[in-house]
Amino acid sequence: MPVSNAVDRETPADTDGESAGEGLPINELFYSLQGEGILAGVPSVFVRTSGCNLRCWFCDSYHTSWEPTHAWMELDAILDEIESHDADHVVLTGGEPLLHDASVSLLEALDERGYHTTVETNGTIHRDAPIDLASISPKLASSTPTPERDPRNEMPADSQNGERQSRGAANQDDGEWEDRHEANRIDMAALAALVEAFEFQLKFVVTDADDMPEILDLLADLREAADVPIRDDDVLLMPEGATRDRLAETRTRVADLAMEYGFRYTPRLHVDLWNDAPET
Ligand code: SF4
Repeated sequence: MPVSNAVDRETPADTDGESAGEGLPINELFYSLQGEGILAGVPSVFVRTSGCNLRCWFCDSYHTSWEPTHAWMELDAILDEIESHDADHVVLTGGEPLLHDASVSLLEALDERGYHTTVETNGTIHRDAPIDLASISPKLASSTPTPERDPRNEMPADSQNGERQSRGAANQDDGEWEDRHEANRIDMAALAALVEAFEFQLKFVVTDADDMPEILDLLADLREAADVPIRDDDVLLMPEGATRDRLAETRTRVADLAMEYGFRYTPRLHVDLWNDAPET
């Protein structure tokens, strides 16, 4: 069901993620192939919640973070929609899905129904929930928005004329999100709790070799903090880029970095297949 068709674009979601009742702010709910990570290529139903506690400049789900929009859906309606697809895998993503209390209820209901669940999280929140795979994507310093890297200043290429367009001037926050993002993007206690509680993959969005020292430092800190081993095989390097053109610039050098450091490379199959189309 193309939930996003029904989204009230005039009604922003609560960006702090507070929500009441057994329902969730849903930005998209769709059936596709998992594009990233160790389950790349697996048919899955994607439940994309709205609202995020971070603001990566390159966010590929702009309407869950910078300009959150959603349709409010009761859990029963979400489950009905999931069950209408012939899939064994459900991916709960965002935004940051673990912001929402009701995400736990949804995961419990999916567990009761026998689904394999992946939760795609930025790693800043741990919840006690039945999660089969925690796909944890800690955000590096290179994700922090700056006045020069502010996605509110541009819109994606217009499908008619291919030109990028201004989003308008309502985008000045005097660096508030730059500071909040930088202060909150890494929570070592939450990261340790997540890797201890669940099967996991650590997925880093990499732009170039300048990101590697921070990844190595973060891994060293996490290996110190967590009571479970973190193998190099658990670490995935994913090229930054939400469009085919951008991925063409980043993927080869990220693949080379994966080989150099002994980590996994993960593609972004959905971008290869469908570029930046919604509901993919
Ligand atoms: S953490 Fe994820 S959803 Fe949130 S702003 Fe960053 S890329 Fe977007």
